[in-house]
Order: sequence, then C-alpha cells, then structure tokens
Amino acid sequence: MAVERERFYECEVKRRRVRAGGGYERFWKVKLIADALIDEDKEFRCKDCGGALKLFRRKMENAPPPHMEHKLKIDSEYCRAGIAFLKATDGRQPRMSANPVR
Ligand SMILES: [Zn+2]
Repeated sequence: MAVERERFYECEVKRRRVRAGGGYERFWKVKLIADALIDEDKEFRCKDCGGALKLFRRKMENAPPPHMEHKLKIDSEYCRAGIAFLKATDGRQPRMSANPVR
C-alpha cells in the first residue's frame, strides 16, 4: 500500500523533572500525540530525527485522529521515519535533523 502522507501518532514532548542535585531539568519523552494534547504539552519534536513537527488536529467527525508531520521538507527527506526518505530510491542514509528542536 502506498503511503502518501506522513502521519505520526507519537512524538517527543519536552518535560520537566526534578534534578538529583536540586532544581529542575528539561528532558524529551516519547508520547502519544493524543495524550500530549490532553496534557497540553507545548513543545514537540520528531522522535526519530529531532526535527520540528506540524500538528494536525481532528476537525471533523471522520477525520483521522490528531497527528503530526515534519515541518521541514528536508527532515522528511532524511529522517528514517520520513515519508520522503522512505520513498527515496537513491539509497540515501538517514540522518538527524540539521535544525533539531532542543
Ligand atoms: Zn523525523
């Protein structure tokens, strides 16, 4: 079956936790996008390449559940989960985003 669009249902969200030495530290955690929306997470990135993602919310009854795709085309072309990468036939190697969300 041909996959024509990217549709990620999981991403990394930025969370905060207590650091062992005191204070807080930020870290990225893999999460279902549906759960991230419920928890009102604000910062997302691709769990495979660290690139920025664009969110698509469900607007109609029969629309697919909330999902994300790469914001940058170049990420999709070289992320190992990217649709453009998966469709590429030139034997390219996956790599991390050149503009990762930190
Ligand atoms: Zn990616």
